Amino acid sequence: MSAPTAPVRRSRSLTVKQAVLTLIIAGLLSLVAGSVELARDARLMREEVESQTRHLLTLVDGTAAEAAFQLNPDLASQVAEGLFSGDRVARVTLRDDFGRIMASHERDAAETANWLVRRLFGDILHYRRSLEYDPGQGAPTTPVGEIELTLALDSLGRDFMNRSLLVFTLSVIKALAIAALMVVAFHAFITRPLLRVHAAIVDTDPRRPGEWPKPRLGRHADDELGHLVESLDRLLRAFQRGLDQRDQLHQISTLDGLTGIANRRRFDSFLPDAWQRARRSRQPLSLIFIDIDNFKDFNDHYGHVIGDDTLRDVARTLSAAVPRATDLVARYGGEEFVCVLADTDLGGARRVADRLREAIHALAIPHAGAPRADHVTASFGVAAAHPAEADEFGFEALLERADGQLYRAKHQGRDQIVWES
Ligand code: GH3
Ligand code: MG
Ligand code: MG
Repeated sequence: MSAPTAPVRRSRSLTVKQAVLTLIIAGLLSLVAGSVELARDARLMREEVESQTRHLLTLVDGTAAEAAFQLNPDLASQVAEGLFSGDRVARVTLRDDFGRIMASHERDAAETANWLVRRLFGDILHYRRSLEYDPGQGAPTTPVGEIELTLALDSLGRDFMNRSLLVFTLSVIKALAIAALMVVAFHAFITRPLLRVHAAIVDTDPRRPGEWPKPRLGRHADDELGHLVESLDRLLRAFQRGLDQRDQLHQISTLDGLTGIANRRRFDSFLPDAWQRARRSRQPLSLIFIDIDNFKDFNDHYGHVIGDDTLRDVARTLSAAVPRATDLVARYGGEEFVCVLADTDLGGARRVADRLREAIHALAIPHAGAPRADHVTASFGVAAAHPAEADEFGFEALLERADGQLYRAKHQGRDQIVWES
């Protein structure tokens, strides 16, 4: 019969909980880290925009000065157009030395930039550079005009948003990758060993807790998980010792102290069980009462010590002659024994009784006061029943009937087997 086991939920909920928690933490961290990276990137972009714009103005500086010096509006216009190659520039104005506009280009830039872009880049939109004409040959340069450039806030905003999206996406991907690694690591290092411990506990036979399949956790031997398994192991072993002691005590309490065979207590619990089994299986059940003849005289003649030895010899002989596990030989009390025979009718019980009588004879223990021989003999009372058909009389009736037959055997001269006719 296998031990009843509770339904096992081998859920991975710990892993799921860890994953959710790790994801939440990673999400928060990626928000913080993303914001920090964004701030850093915004500062970087400001520096880039400023240096790129200055570099652009440096590139056109010579040509623009030439145009202003020659008061050449076409050249000035070419310079201004050249600065419009990208969509970064919103307005370019070239002035001569007297402040007159030589060329002015403007793009219809929608002022759609949001407050953040305005705040980040609003103060680096305007550039003004005075144009110096260099006649060469070491002559001093002379101011000939100026160039004014205004950047398009909406274009800066677009660039910034694109960069931000990239920076933020990368930051989130990084955080998710770290979170995924942590979930896998937690699962491998903690959850999986824990689940193994749990499975081992579930697989433990509650009747044999000391033989539980103690999990080997390898590198966890020295950590809390290893200590948990060791503590559990000690607990289950102690539990097993308790069970063993209980079984031992139970065993002792069912054995006869003198002969070592089953005692009266064992017989008293065995007979009702055997009766029920026979009733269910619709099989017969037989009982043999055995009483050593004139044993009082034996004791008186040979002494109690030899009397005890004889009781032991008889008990051992009876047990050996009834080897089936479903049968029982017990010391009923004093020099009386009883034998319960499962699945055995009257004929079978008589044959067993014959065997027992012969075995006691074969012991040939001298008995000066034996009634019909010169050695120890016994009387036998045999009764059989069909519990399925005679249940109303119960096992007590069977006991009384077998005892009655024993009484008859004694009455008829001892050393004989008597059964119900
Ligand atoms: P009967 O043939 O009618 O059975 O006669 P009996 O003398 O055997 O019957 P009785 O019941 O008068 O005596 C039983 C005796 O068994 C009494 C006692 O001396 C002896 N006896 C009972 N228990 C023990 C025991 O544990 N050890 C020894 N040595 N003797 C025992
Ligand atoms: Mg007796
Ligand atoms: Mg007797």
